[in-house]
Amino acid sequence: MLKVSGEALAGESGFGIDPAVVQTIAREVAEASLSGVQVSVVVGGGNFFRGAQHEGKGLDRASADYMGMLATVMNAINLQAAVESNGVPTRVMTAFAMSEVAEPYIRRRAIRHLEKGRVVIFGAGTGNPFFTTDTGAALRAAEINAQCVLKATKVDGVFDRDPVKCPDAKLYESLTYETVQRLGLGVMDLTAITLCQENDIPVVVFNLAEEGNIARALRGDKVGTCVSSDVEKYARNESPDAAKGSKSKPR
Ligand code: UDP
Repeated sequence: MLKVSGEALAGESGFGIDPAVVQTIAREVAEASLSGVQVSVVVGGGNFFRGAQHEGKGLDRASADYMGMLATVMNAINLQAAVESNGVPTRVMTAFAMSEVAEPYIRRRAIRHLEKGRVVIFGAGTGNPFFTTDTGAALRAAEINAQCVLKATKVDGVFDRDPVKCPDAKLYESLTYETVQRLGLGVMDLTAITLCQENDIPVVVFNLAEEGNIARALRGDKVGTCVSSDVEKYARNESPDAAKGSKSKPR
């Protein structure tokens, strides 16, 4: 399960979609899929609309969040077209019905698509206001029995301080869920981290900007920071799949 934020899709401009960024992501996703990895993607919508930022400005939070969820669908459709231009079939599945543009999310159907080698892109987050697409990624990962959540970010992983403001910030190689919660490290929101913890799904935080990183992460190679229940296994240079124990093909 790859989580790509909307902000990442915007590239340098910080708003809208940078086609070059989308194409790079799509190429690496397609490469991993063609090599036999079952790949699903959750896309954010922050490059267009974040509900919490608009609350109170003539909009109630729930309405603003529905707009945010619609934004994720725009990103999902763009990513779908880009992955398919790299020769890999895809399906967009949305958490609420908009059947003219995407399939409604049906768990068993999503798993079947993955088994058939299709990349499944989940749009509209969880379908509920007051949540985030990180939580959407954790939820779908648990539902489809994904081996790992790969969170693509703008930095190399999880640091003890903000690496943009503090150049000497230390990068963690591996962390437990408890440490992330206790130190309030900005990996994902706490709902998402807790969901991953409860379902024992490792979360790998890595830099999207470094070429080849998405493909590496999807192959299970060691990149960025791994958050799991078993820090030692990852430190021994085993992939997050190994940290969890192999249940099925990577998704
Ligand atoms: N959102 C929501 N419920 C969800 C997922 C997303 O209400 O399950 C809304 C929320 O307003 C959020 C916006 O969609 O701000 C975009 O998602 P997110 O902020 O997670 O995107 P990202 O930060 O990954 O770009």
